[in-house]
Amino acid sequence: MDRYYSLAGQVLAGNPATASDALEILSSPDEDLTAVVAAAARLRRAHFGNLVKINYLVNLKSGLCPEDCSYCSQRLGSEAEILKYPWLPRDEAKRQAEFGLAGGASRVCLVASGRGPSNRDVERVSGMVEEIKAATPSVEVCACLGFLKEGQAHRLKEAGVDAYNHNLNTAESHYSDICSTHTFADRVDTVDQARAAGMSPCSGLIVGMGETNEQIIEAIESLQQVDSDSIPVNFLIPFDGTPLEGTYTLTPQHCLRILCAVRFLCPDRELRIAGGREMHLRSLQPMSLHVANSLFLGDYLTSEGQAAEEDLDMIVDGGFEIVGTDNARQLRDRLKAYRAAHQAALGVAKTPDTSVSTLPCGKQVPAVGAEHAGAGVTIPMIRRRGAGTAVAPNA
Ligand code: SF4
Repeated sequence: MDRYYSLAGQVLAGNPATASDALEILSSPDEDLTAVVAAAARLRRAHFGNLVKINYLVNLKSGLCPEDCSYCSQRLGSEAEILKYPWLPRDEAKRQAEFGLAGGASRVCLVASGRGPSNRDVERVSGMVEEIKAATPSVEVCACLGFLKEGQAHRLKEAGVDAYNHNLNTAESHYSDICSTHTFADRVDTVDQARAAGMSPCSGLIVGMGETNEQIIEAIESLQQVDSDSIPVNFLIPFDGTPLEGTYTLTPQHCLRILCAVRFLCPDRELRIAGGREMHLRSLQPMSLHVANSLFLGDYLTSEGQAAEEDLDMIVDGGFEIVGTDNARQLRDRLKAYRAAHQAALGVAKTPDTSVSTLPCGKQVPAVGAEHAGAGVTIPMIRRRGAGTAVAPNA
């Protein structure tokens, strides 16, 4: 067990961990888990102290993508009953972003489904960014719009976009197993374009898609090569109606080992626990913040996360502080009061009837998450609140 502690010391002394060190971490037995996490926590503390960065997703355009990424609920042919809507109006995008900022987010991530934006789409998003930044100059904005064409990265940078997200997702050697409509090289090219235009590259992983431990290391090494500044690690949310429906291969312990492997290979990079953390890390989630230093608050693009208050409780209870705020506890308490007041202002009962949701088209569908409320997020729960709905977001 001293081996992991010594390895962290070696990394802190300037000798980077190798692929074989990271593979050893991924292959370590469960009885070594606390030692592995403690060693990774040394690196996390050395670079980020006790700070957690909060990011907030705004899904600007949902569903109906022509690409066939097999993990994605918005893919070509997806039968997942997700919200589908065209571009949010500019004011609505700003309004949704403000919910996240009130919840402690210092970065807003503006995301749109699709292969990539048209120049008109880039102008539309640029206008949103300018408006969000005019209202809150300190906010960091990350855009995630798919593959970029020549000139688009520079236009986004000029509009004030700080970072561009484009996940490499998995190993190059595994890529053709999860997608046929584009290649790994296409993804690398867009990350390169974003970096060349002066935006901070945000690129991460989705794990739990049948990859081997070696392929996880291969993917992390690719993230090193594209010089990703922030690394979201998503744990597969296996939506019904997608090719990976019902795929549950991860254990909470292995999720932690994966985060530790990323931390050892990329010790000074923002490491974010992202989609699927609730269902796969489960009761080990609080431990993950001793390795990761960043999270998405509340809901994901098409699925619901745990309540934003639970995210903040996890941060406060772990003794962490939040980037951009003076006191995480006060912010958490303020958020709870804000949520209560907001719900009262909307006339929402404290315990709303969530058995049915009305989609933007008027169709009524069962609220997938309702029957599981309070039981933790252990299966995919389709998002029925926030952007694209008339219901207050989870922020
Ligand atoms: S390109 Fe993006 S939105 Fe489209 S299927 Fe792939 S991950 Fe989903």
